[in-house]
Amino acid sequence: MTLTIADEIRERALAELAGAGSRAELDEWAIRYLGRERGELSRLLKTIPTLAPAERKPFGESINAIKKALEAAQGVRAAEVRSQELGQRLLEDRVDVTLPARGTEPGHEHLVYRARDEMIETFRLLGFDVAEGPELEDEWHNFSALNTPEDHPSRDAQDTFYLQGGGLLRTQTSSVQIRYMEHHQPPIRIVAPGRVYRPDTITPRHYPLFHQIEGLLVDENVTFGDLKGTLSAFARRTFGQSRKVRFRPSFFPFTEPSAEMDVECIFCGGSGCRVCSHSGWIEMGGCGMVDPSVLTNVGIDPERYTGFAFGMGIDRTAMIRYQVPDIRLLWENDLRFLRQF
Ligand SMILES: [Zn+2]
Repeated sequence: MTLTIADEIRERALAELAGAGSRAELDEWAIRYLGRERGELSRLLKTIPTLAPAERKPFGESINAIKKALEAAQGVRAAEVRSQELGQRLLEDRVDVTLPARGTEPGHEHLVYRARDEMIETFRLLGFDVAEGPELEDEWHNFSALNTPEDHPSRDAQDTFYLQGGGLLRTQTSSVQIRYMEHHQPPIRIVAPGRVYRPDTITPRHYPLFHQIEGLLVDENVTFGDLKGTLSAFARRTFGQSRKVRFRPSFFPFTEPSAEMDVECIFCGGSGCRVCSHSGWIEMGGCGMVDPSVLTNVGIDPERYTGFAFGMGIDRTAMIRYQVPDIRLLWENDLRFLRQF
């Protein structure tokens, strides 16, 4: 009679197992039938002491056989449920490849940074390393160490952004010359590209923020011929072998002698136009032999070493290189404009 109850439990357990559709339901099923304390089979085993001695062994064996059969069935069903759940998840996560993609707006390398990288590459080929310095400067590195007198007009608040509480926005990358020479002895051969700031009225050729690349070479026996050769090689590689370059005498506090380098206007070929102010030439920047007092200021012996320095506008170079007639176009960041290049 008890055996019939065991058989009935087995049938019921198998039927419920077939209906268990999730791992949670499988777990509940296992506790209900196979649980060590309160499972139905355990409860049957606990009735053994109430049976006649001869019935106890065969009863126990039959319960254990049912237990093994249920455990085997549980393993099979668990595998089926796992497979169903996986299939369901794949179905839910399926990507519809026929849906139209979300549009993306790719950016564009900025012309100024493209020009900067090209200039750096040219100077690398000429043997220069790249150095950097801070945009927030002090008067020593931006002016005094560069031999700029206290009353020099470039120090005026009309030409320099001074910060409340001291310091200034560097007006030239020449400050990097000083910072570099403070920590390096010759031979020195660096270019320093970066942003500089001057309170300018915005016009087709002027903007209060612009980019310069500074060059500095200090070694024994450096001459003005080395300076002209270096900048001419740069101009030929950047603007074409046939482009004319000229050097005009000029004055800067930190170089002696000093010069301005001009490159033939590529818009008009030298005949004169609005971009070149009808001169036929576009100013590239200033240059000259490093003033001995600047070398002294940073602890380099001017009796033994000479050097040259130059500073060029990167924005200006980008305008010439890519024939952009108005500097404001560079900073409006209109993708329709940038994509033309
Ligand atoms: Zn021109």
